[in-house]
Amino acid sequence: MKDDCIFCKIANHVIESNYVYEDDLVCAFRDMNPQAPTHVLVVPKEHYANIVDGVPGDTLAAMAHAVDEVAKAEGIREDGFRVIANTGDAAGQTVHHLHWHVLGGKNLGEGLL
Ligand code: 5GP
Ligand code: ZN
Repeated sequence: MKDDCIFCKIANHVIESNYVYEDDLVCAFRDMNPQAPTHVLVVPKEHYANIVDGVPGDTLAAMAHAVDEVAKAEGIREDGFRVIANTGDAAGQTVHHLHWHVLGGKNLGEGLL
């Protein structure tokens, strides 16, 4: 746990949030500034800066499983949804603890950006 990291604190319940899913390796909670009817962040409990920070395979698998669980819980699995991992400054990553945005609950369109 990195002491000055907000997502370390949320993922380890030092600060409570609005959780949608949790297991031993990851948790998922609602984004405080939602960009879609469903906007949930999937984060590992261990601190990794982003997707290219040597993340172990079991953690990546747990994140993918959490995406599935969130999509089921939110009722967006059949219609479809989008997963985004902003990585580094050019992508506008503002919180430097690995997180996947899970967005859905409306038609997001074909454009990626
Ligand atoms: P990024 O641009 O780094 O991919 O996105 C970070 C996201 O984290 C933003 O969508 C922002 O709204 C969300 N966020 C930042 N701080 C907090 C927080 O303390 N709690 C919650 N629930 N979301 C946060
Ligand atoms: Zn962290």
